[in-house]
Amino acid sequence: MVIVGSGFTGFECARKLVRILGKHDAAVDVTMISPVDYMLYTPLLPDVAGGVVDARFVTIPLANTLRGVKIVRGRVDSVDIEGRALTYTDPEGRRRDHSWDRLVLTPGSVTRLFDVPGLATHARGLKSTAEALYLRDHVLEQLELAGIDDDPQRTQARRTVVIVGASYSGTELAVQLRALADAAADQMGFDRATVRFVLLDMAEQVMPEVGDRLGAAAMRVLQERGIDVRLGMTLKEVHADHVILTDDSRIDTRTVAWVTGVTGAPLIADLGLEMERGRLKVQADLSVAGHPHVFAAGDAAAVPDLTEPGKITPPTAQHATRQGKTLARNVAATLGYGTKKLYKHRNMGLVVDLGPGYAVANPLNVALSGFPAKVVTRAYHLYAIPRFVNRWAVSLAYLTDAVFDRSVVSIGLSSQEDAQFAASEGIPMPKAD
Ligand SMILES: Cc1cc2nc3c(=O)[nH]c(=O)nc-3n(C[C@H](O)[C@H](O)[C@H](O)COP(=O)(O)OP(=O)(O)OC[C@H]3O[C@@H](n4cnc5c(N)ncnc54)[C@H](O)[C@@H]3O)c2cc1C
Repeated sequence: MVIVGSGFTGFECARKLVRILGKHDAAVDVTMISPVDYMLYTPLLPDVAGGVVDARFVTIPLANTLRGVKIVRGRVDSVDIEGRALTYTDPEGRRRDHSWDRLVLTPGSVTRLFDVPGLATHARGLKSTAEALYLRDHVLEQLELAGIDDDPQRTQARRTVVIVGASYSGTELAVQLRALADAAADQMGFDRATVRFVLLDMAEQVMPEVGDRLGAAAMRVLQERGIDVRLGMTLKEVHADHVILTDDSRIDTRTVAWVTGVTGAPLIADLGLEMERGRLKVQADLSVAGHPHVFAAGDAAAVPDLTEPGKITPPTAQHATRQGKTLARNVAATLGYGTKKLYKHRNMGLVVDLGPGYAVANPLNVALSGFPAKVVTRAYHLYAIPRFVNRWAVSLAYLTDAVFDRSVVSIGLSSQEDAQFAASEGIPMPKAD
C-alpha cells in the first residue's frame, strides 16, 4: 500500500498502520511517497520566522521514527485509479511509476492564492520551512539596509511589514516578526517605533476561530505592540516596493506575507474524483465513494463532520492527526485486520501564541488569556510534537528565549526563489503578472 504525503495525517497513519500490521504479523509493504524526508510541525513555523526556534527542531525525521515504512522521496504527479498505479517525480527530476493496491492520499494543502496582480511574484507564504526562514532573513536584511539607505521614503518602506490574514497563523506571524524587529532595533540601535507593521484581513474580527472574547484580547495585544490592524480590507495590487489596498490606499513596503487560508494540494484536483470546497470528497470512513481501496484525509480531503451534520471538518492539525489514526485502522480493516470505524471528533479548542509573555487558548472551551494561556500553549506544543528529541530541542529553544536576547541573524539559508509559492509549496505559478 502507498501513502502520499508525510504531513500530520500521513505520518500518523503510517505510524499506527505499522503497529497494527506488526501485531498481526502481517506481511504488507507500506510505502510513503513525499517530496520531503520529514513531517513538518507547522504550528511552530511562526516561531521559526520570529527566530525563536530553529527550523530543524520543527521537522520530525521520517527515518528512525517510521521504522517498517519504505520512504520514497518524490512528488506524486498523477494517479491512475482504475489501473492502481501512480507516477511521481524524484528530487533529480526523473519520472517514476509505482503500483498500489491500497492508496492513502494525504498531500495536505497549499496557500490559497487569489487573483491579485503581483501576489505570486512579490508576496511569500508561511507553509514551509523555506518560507519561514526567508521571512526571518528578509525582515532582518531590510532593517539592516534601512540603516544605510539615504532615501527617507525607501528607508521607511524597508521598515514596513505587511501581513495579510488575521486568523491564528497570520496573527502569530505578525507578533513573532514584531518581536524580532524589536530585538533588531534594540541590538542595532534604532527606535523600535520606526518599524511599522500592518495586519490586514477581509473579516471584521481578528482570529474568529477563538470567539469574540479571546479575539478582542488578541486585538488589544496587537495594538499594544504597535501593530496597525485593518479589518474589512485586503490587497488589490502587490509591487516590488509597495502595495495598493482595496480602499486604494498605498503602503510602501518590501515585505508582504500572505497567510490567508489554504486549499487542497494541486494533485487532488487532477484525480477526476468528486471535490468539495477545493478538497477531495470522502465518506465518514475516509474512503472515496465508489473506490473502496482509495482513502484520503487531512487538509486535502472534505471529511464529513459527524459532530456538526452538513459541515466538513476544518483544516487543522487536530483533525489531521486523528484522521491519520482512523485511516490506519480502516485501511488495515480492508486488509482483513480489525474493523472499520467512522471518523468523529469534537473540536477540543485552539492555542495561539502571541509572542513574548502572552497567548490566548480555549482548551475544552475554557477561555484563557495572558500568562496562563502561554503556559498551556507551550505545554500543548511540547506534548503534541511527535518525537522526544524535537520536544527536547524546542524546550531548550524556549528556555534560551526566556533567558537571553533573541539572536538577530539572517543566515541566508532560503533565497527569494526558494521561498516562492511554486518552489516551496509546489503551487503551479499563475501566468506572469
Ligand atoms: C503556519 C501554520 C500554523 C498552523 N498552526 C496550527 C495550529 O496551531 N493548530 C492546528 O490544529 N493546525 C495548525 N495548522 C494547520 C495544520 O498545519 C494542518 O491542518 C495540517 O498540517 C494538515 O495536515 P495534512 O497531513 O493534511 O497536511 P500537511 O501537514 O501539509 O502534509 C502534507 C504532506 O504532503 C506532501 N505532499 C504535498 N503534495 C504532494 C504530492 N503531490 N506528492 C507527495 N507528497 C505531497 C507535503 O510535502 C507534506 O509532507 C497550521 C498551519 C500553518 C501553515
